[in-house]
Amino acid sequence: MFHYPDDLKHIDRDVTVIAVTKKQSSQNIQHALDFGLRHFGENRVQEADAHWRDLRRVYDDVVLHLIGPLQSNKANDAVALFDVIHTIDREKIARAVKSEMDKQRKNIPCFIQVNTGDEPQKAGISLDNLDEFYTLCKNDIGLDIIGLMCIPPIDANAAIHFRLLKQRGENLGLKYFSMGMSGDYQSALACGATHLRIGSALFGERH
Ligand SMILES: *Cc1c(COP(=O)(O)O)cnc(C)c1O
Repeated sequence: MFHYPDDLKHIDRDVTVIAVTKKQSSQNIQHALDFGLRHFGENRVQEADAHWRDLRRVYDDVVLHLIGPLQSNKANDAVALFDVIHTIDREKIARAVKSEMDKQRKNIPCFIQVNTGDEPQKAGISLDNLDEFYTLCKNDIGLDIIGLMCIPPIDANAAIHFRLLKQRGENLGLKYFSMGMSGDYQSALACGATHLRIGSALFGERH
């Protein structure tokens, strides 16, 4: 059941709450739309298409955020469907997305995903390679990089990762920080998040 937490109603600055609708029922999605939410996150291109293809004809002000890893052979569909991409993390993807944007004449703001915990199983560019990768994306490839995104390691003190991400982004002149999920969004807010990606705290557990 959809439920909007009270503490998200009283944020004292401009923060985008992205309702993550992966694995949610169409009923839950409809409740979020009825409540007035317009920013939605999905982590798979195909599932996002199934959830949103028809709904977007009705709700033309919906903003769809891709928050999951992207394969370059899906760049075509991803660029067609999404309005913001949070998961640019390697050159091949950056180039594939840019080339699709040119083909489709669509400019999509992007976040670079950073693997702040250096976890081998997790997507994201390493902190060591971040500055170089940012320069490549911006100057050589020509992507519209607006900020950084991270998912802290499960057992870590999330605030350490959020602060680090913000610091590194600000050093690059970036203004937007996609950080904070159901379990740690308050910490992310305290650390300067501008985009929260929240699933289970809004919808309950995924099935
Ligand atoms: C699923 C997912 C979320 C939302 O997770 P919750 O813990 O349910 O809020 C946020 N970000 C990413 C990248 C996700 O894959």
